[in-house]
Amino acid sequence: MSSAWLNLAYLTASMLFIMAFKLMARPRTAVQGNLYGAIGMAIAIVAAFYEYPVLLGREAGVGGTVRILLALLLGGGIGGVLAIRAPMTSMPQMVALLNGFGGAASLLVAGAELQAALKHGAHPEAYGQMILATAATGVIGAITFWGSLAAFAKLQEYEQFKKPWSFPAQHVINAGLAVVVLLLTWWVAAVPSAWYVYWLLVIVASALGVLLTMPIGGADMPVVICLLNSYSGIAAAASGFVIDNNVLVIAGSLVGASGIILCQIMCKAMNRSLTNVLFGGFGGTATSGPSADDVYGGKVKSAGPEEIAMLFDTARRVVIVPGYGLAVAQAQHSVRDLANLLQSKGIEVLYAIHPVAGRMPGHMNVLLAEANVPYDLMREMDDINPMFPETDVAIVLGANDVVNPMARTDPKSPIAGMPILNVDQARTVVVVKRSLSPGFAGIPNPLFAADNTLMYFADGKKAVLDLVAAIKAG
Ligand code: NDP
Repeated sequence: MSSAWLNLAYLTASMLFIMAFKLMARPRTAVQGNLYGAIGMAIAIVAAFYEYPVLLGREAGVGGTVRILLALLLGGGIGGVLAIRAPMTSMPQMVALLNGFGGAASLLVAGAELQAALKHGAHPEAYGQMILATAATGVIGAITFWGSLAAFAKLQEYEQFKKPWSFPAQHVINAGLAVVVLLLTWWVAAVPSAWYVYWLLVIVASALGVLLTMPIGGADMPVVICLLNSYSGIAAAASGFVIDNNVLVIAGSLVGASGIILCQIMCKAMNRSLTNVLFGGFGGTATSGPSADDVYGGKVKSAGPEEIAMLFDTARRVVIVPGYGLAVAQAQHSVRDLANLLQSKGIEVLYAIHPVAGRMPGHMNVLLAEANVPYDLMREMDDINPMFPETDVAIVLGANDVVNPMARTDPKSPIAGMPILNVDQARTVVVVKRSLSPGFAGIPNPLFAADNTLMYFADGKKAVLDLVAAIKAG
């Protein structure tokens, strides 16, 4: 294949990636966007086979091609099985792993390229900018890989990783490691023939990746995942410079930029600065503040499906507020049936979507879209908040932190300042959950003890099915 055809193939792949991003910005066109991205990636992989003769076995013999095809089958197979088997509730962990493997792949490519160049006797002066790109790939790739593994362990809620780690002088140690990373980067650039310094750099950057991520609390993980996603893109772009591959540079830059934009949106949704998330040590389980007994003691009222069904006799507007529990209960289809039933009685039904509800950005939109809930009924936080005072019934389904008024009232709370859905302003609030146990941030929620709140203790799906039956019977 001539280089003109190769460049055309890479250009086509890059254009497909850009179109994919554009289409993925709207839930309605997101599936199509995903398809465009997959086609772009397939074109890029085939073109890469043609670009590197070694991949075709012309240099390494047929054995080289077979090895690469086997690696593709193995990697693709493991990725496919993981993606199919991972439940919707584990998607953030899955994304964390994918980011991490992206970083690891980039640092291995850069390291291998450096050793191959040395093996073929490249003169140090000939490395030029490639050596800096190599060092950058090693650093960012290692931080991404190990940081992502730490994020995975936190999201998976492994006991040892759940709480934010803090240790004496952590900022000083991290700053010291950052200085060592800079020195080693300089060493790699100054003495490219010392290939082992590259791997030393990777080891130190790996330690930095773990130590930077571990002190960050679970409730801040969405931002960290977006940031690591951005890092994985930057590492890929840097490795594109190393192996002189345009499509890697373009695709990596797209991922890097979109990750950082998403990060900014998430920070805004939590009312936090990125620096505060990364170095503030917030976002963990609360160690102070009011206890559950102080908040709930004797004030919680519970109700059953028949009592709640009566609320809809006079209701004109109902707002459904989904949260992580909706995903756990897989109640999205039953919720849609409930909404259809209420609409058939002339009640306006809307869904209030908080940007960090669930465990990943867009989690609730994806779940509700799966149940064919019309997009125009899903309202963003800023649109729906002014409507709560005019709402007869707010049904909070498996949401907790994102409706916790303590974010507004208690400046010491781990979620202080996080914009929330003001469901407490609705005339009546029905909270569906199994117990009074806390949400992700680990703090009690005064909403459950409010005068206008009724707690409906049950599994989300069963609760909705029983409610539908009670409304029909009434
Ligand atoms: P929360 O984690 O605050 O609360 C979820 C609630 O769902 C729990 O209180 C739980 O109560 C209830 N629940 C669990 N299973 C069921 C079930 N089967 N049926 C009914 N209820 C159930 O969820 P939110 O969505 O309100 O908030 C998201 C939190 O996660 C925020 O703190 C956010 O920062 C964080 N986060 C968000 C990410 C994102 O990108 N969206 C990523 C990582 C973290 P009970 O056990 O009593 O039933």
